[in-house]
Amino acid sequence: MPATYTHKFDTPVYKADVTIKTGLFIGNKWVDPVEGKTIEVINPATGKVITSVSIGTSQDVDLAVKAAEEAYKTSWGLRCSGRERGKLLYKLAELMDRDIAELAALESLDVGKVFSATKDGEIPAAISTFRYYAGWADKVQGKTIETTDAKFTYTRHEPFGVVGQIIPWNFPLFMLSWKLGPALATGNTIVLKPSELTPLSALKLTDLIIEAGFPPGVVNIVNGYGPEVGQAISEHPRIRKVAFTGSTLVGRKILKASSETNLKVVTLELGGKSPSIVFDDADLDKTVRWVSYGIFGNMGQACTAGSRIFIQEGIFDAFVEKFVAATEHLSNNIGDPFHNGTLHGPQVSQLQFDRVMGYIESGKSEGAKVLLGGERHGNEGFFIKPTIITDVHLDMKVTREEIFGPVCTLIKFKTEEEVIEKGNDTEYGLAAHIFTENLNRAIRVSNAVEAGSAWVNIAQITDTAVPFGGYKNSGIGRELGEYALSTYTQVKGVHINIGP
Ligand code: NAD
Repeated sequence: MPATYTHKFDTPVYKADVTIKTGLFIGNKWVDPVEGKTIEVINPATGKVITSVSIGTSQDVDLAVKAAEEAYKTSWGLRCSGRERGKLLYKLAELMDRDIAELAALESLDVGKVFSATKDGEIPAAISTFRYYAGWADKVQGKTIETTDAKFTYTRHEPFGVVGQIIPWNFPLFMLSWKLGPALATGNTIVLKPSELTPLSALKLTDLIIEAGFPPGVVNIVNGYGPEVGQAISEHPRIRKVAFTGSTLVGRKILKASSETNLKVVTLELGGKSPSIVFDDADLDKTVRWVSYGIFGNMGQACTAGSRIFIQEGIFDAFVEKFVAATEHLSNNIGDPFHNGTLHGPQVSQLQFDRVMGYIESGKSEGAKVLLGGERHGNEGFFIKPTIITDVHLDMKVTREEIFGPVCTLIKFKTEEEVIEKGNDTEYGLAAHIFTENLNRAIRVSNAVEAGSAWVNIAQITDTAVPFGGYKNSGIGRELGEYALSTYTQVKGVHINIGP
């Protein structure tokens, strides 16, 4: 039996001992990896090691696939009614609700997220995703199709069998709920790999998966590195579908690996370089708050971050003045995610810290101006001050590439046509944020942006019931809502001869 780890939270906002198992989770057991490897988990607020957890290799993925196949045949898939699957998903949501503080604390510790935001926003959103898909589990329906009098014809929406899922570090449990919710509701069994940087909340969830009563092998969680465990999932000949959230670079690798073995169905949720577009007639105070959240929320580590802020010339000066003041307020409240009043935490890792600082330096070297921030905060951990960059042009690296940190560029524009053209001038197409009090313009611009999500007078607030995904290089397929069900099912046409 692999080790457990108990973290003693003794912070101003949360005090408790929280225990997790640190092994791989295969067949409802925590097991040691075949090669016995481990990885250190780092606290981004201090840079220090929290603990070590097991990581797998392709051999462990194989064992997890076997457990998932067995579960699919004997206790899930076509052997378990949608009603029963729904009950289990609902029970899991109830248990997460009960343990919400523990889950939030582990998530904040591991990713550096502000505890209150995790506890009151992100974990509740993960829980509602499970509840939402619990409701769908007994509503996955085919159609009867009129053909001829001699035939009774209908469709069935059937699961794939074993599904592989690979998720990133920026919203670990939230992204996990987007993956597990629809896949389990539709009757698939799972081999999931969390990010090697942030395994803790998924490990805690394994306790609740058992307590909820999921049969062994329905959910298997194999921590590990992308090129090893992630690659093994993408290549596995008996995994029929892979769902991935992460960078466009890795998305391409997964698509390639998947196509070389057994032509898996692949859905990809990838990166972004989303515009926030502020028109002259926007409600200034409200817009400043949403634009600020749109780029600095989760320390800029959001795929939909509004990192290119386009501001119409008539409101430019007034917007910049208030936006700078709002950003200064954020900068004055950087710190420990578990302290009262903290609004802004660290980046997730040294690597991400270095990458983001590298982008700031590249902006400077290409002639852009750092209006605010642009530097480290404190002496330990991976804190970067919220950063505003001006004097940019659209072919600089800072305006073209996904930075995935608290860094935005401000760009002045004159007309609606111009900003639509500039906003769409990117390889990505994940989201657009539009700020205007003119309803006609709001609808016109929402229609014109090349993005899977258009938010008007709000930023980055997804809803479990509304589909989410990317245009262009931001992805393939949709998550959330009813749409996600179709990405976890395959359709069978049944023809029954009722004639001669
Ligand atoms: P990443 O692509 O580096 O890693 C994502 C996952 O893929 C991790 O679990 C990683 O271990 C794994 N991986 C790495 N190499 C792999 C390989 N060769 N084969 C299989 N798996 C491999 O991304 P990240 O740094 O964890 O997350 C940040 C990225 O995720 C950003 O680009 C962001 O925009 C994107 N993201 C997108 C969404 C969305 O819904 N569109 C949501 C969150 C994050």
